[in-house]
Amino acid sequence: MMEIKNLHANIGEKNILKGLNLCLEKGKVHVIMGPNGAGKSTLSKAIVGHYDITVTEGDIFYKGESIVEEAPEMRALKGIFLSFQNPVEIPGVSNAYFLRTAVNAKRKFEGKEELNAAEFLREAKRLAQELGMKPELITRSLNEGFSGGEKKRNETLQMLMLEPDFIILDEIDSGLDIDALRAVSEGINKIKDENRTFLIITHYSRILEYVKPDYVHVLKDGKIVKTAGPELVAELEEKGYTALEEF
Ligand code: ADP
Ligand code: MG
Ligand code: MG
Repeated sequence: MMEIKNLHANIGEKNILKGLNLCLEKGKVHVIMGPNGAGKSTLSKAIVGHYDITVTEGDIFYKGESIVEEAPEMRALKGIFLSFQNPVEIPGVSNAYFLRTAVNAKRKFEGKEELNAAEFLREAKRLAQELGMKPELITRSLNEGFSGGEKKRNETLQMLMLEPDFIILDEIDSGLDIDALRAVSEGINKIKDENRTFLIITHYSRILEYVKPDYVHVLKDGKIVKTAGPELVAELEEKGYTALEEF
């Protein structure tokens, strides 16, 4: 689904990703763990083409084609989705308007019929209810005054409505209470299938009790330094990242 080759990326003048290689398979759940400041969010932003990030060397292939020169909007239309670690608040833009615009742009790109306001709202409310979201959150300004849990449930709603093929979840589980974690995890499992790839960035094994990973990668100092199966999570929890060389 995606191959990242020798990726070097900067934020401003600062070099963050330092020759990162990663192969992400179709139908699999990949987990990235790693110390604070290692470059996990930078990697997720580089994949979606976020303007803060400058790729200076290397390439990202998605479904066989290089996307590093592609605008973020095009990457989204092609099915790449990122749930941000810190979702932005956009006062004055309603959540429903924002999401319907994104959903319909993607449907149009795929040659599908667009959803009218009523169809969209029916579906959004149905999914919001499944996620334990207050229905009023759909019509409020995007993320404005949303609690941490409400933002992450809303990111999950976006994911379910957009039905992307490549889904990056950057610390979607951080700061969630037990019910929110379960709701978000159920959302993930609901659309997990053999045609989608998940890249889940997390610090905690808790979410991985609900969503079973196929591969676990460790990102340290701008590179992937270890790849293993799910058993690596317990090993990391026990030994930490500093002991990694001794594994
Ligand atoms: P992680 O998600 O692994 O915790 P990040 O990718 O967010 O790490 O950050 C990697 C490094 O880039 C950190 O040292 C961080 O301080 C730095 N960084 C992140 N955003 C910016 C920014 N906007 N300006 C300057 N440095 C940044
Ligand atoms: Mg961090
Ligand atoms: Mg981060």
